[in-house]
Amino acid sequence: MATVCPLCNGLTVLTAPCPRCQEPVEDGGQMEGYDDPYSPYEDDLLVPAPNAGEDPQKWCWHLVYCRQCGWEGNLPVAQREGL
Ligand SMILES: [Zn+2]
Ligand SMILES: [Zn+2]
Repeated sequence: MATVCPLCNGLTVLTAPCPRCQEPVEDGGQMEGYDDPYSPYEDDLLVPAPNAGEDPQKWCWHLVYCRQCGWEGNLPVAQREGL
């Protein structure tokens, strides 16, 4: 079943707070290779989302950054079933 990322498709806006300063982070775009057939979760740069290992296809990884303090990270966005 196809899923879509609500953030990629403009169905929602990013509201995650920066872990360092609590300011809202900004979406830096979808990570390249997010749909790589090889598991991306072994990359040290990535932190698996809760239950992400159960069905990685349901997560769209986004690069996010904070304008306030310069923090950068990866955020998994839960995908929705396609319309
Ligand atoms: Zn996305
Ligand atoms: Zn910050």
